[in-house]
Amino acid sequence: MTSHPTDDGCIFCRIVAGQLPCFKLMEDETTIAFMDINPVNPGHALAVAKGHWPTVDVIPPEILGDVARTAQRVAKAALAVLKPTGVNLLQSNGPGAGQSVPHLHVHILPRYPDDKVRLNWVYQPGDKKEIEAICSKLKAALE
Ligand code: AMP
Ligand code: ZN
Repeated sequence: MTSHPTDDGCIFCRIVAGQLPCFKLMEDETTIAFMDINPVNPGHALAVAKGHWPTVDVIPPEILGDVARTAQRVAKAALAVLKPTGVNLLQSNGPGAGQSVPHLHVHILPRYPDDKVRLNWVYQPGDKKEIEAICSKLKAALE
């Protein structure tokens, strides 16, 4: 078994270790998927890294890829079985983004007509100079 970082105080680490129950969908060497116990919509599930990496900037890229693959697998099952009108994959980083469990996970969120989920925003054309200036700064910071 591959070793990964853990945090004793973390709910998801405790689920990964089998110390807390979950409605498990699947697991593989580096990821686990289980149902969210506060479902926003029926079928709301989570694809979770087994290791304790809080956010997207610190998780190894290959593990992030594994989490994405697991999220895709769960999304395909949700689409096939629940026949929602759509699915959002949502991954939050930091309290400012609404992350409540600091252990990297992707929400698989089936969508249904007239549900109460509000993730969309209104398009408004940005200032091109501002967009270009930020683009340059980000480009220079890409690793
Ligand atoms: P986030 O706010 O993006 O960090 O999402 C954390 C999610 O974990 C929330 O949707 C919670 O409902 C969910 N959650 C918290 N504790 C548990 C648990 N023990 N089992 C399943 N889901 C959980
Ligand atoms: Zn953890």
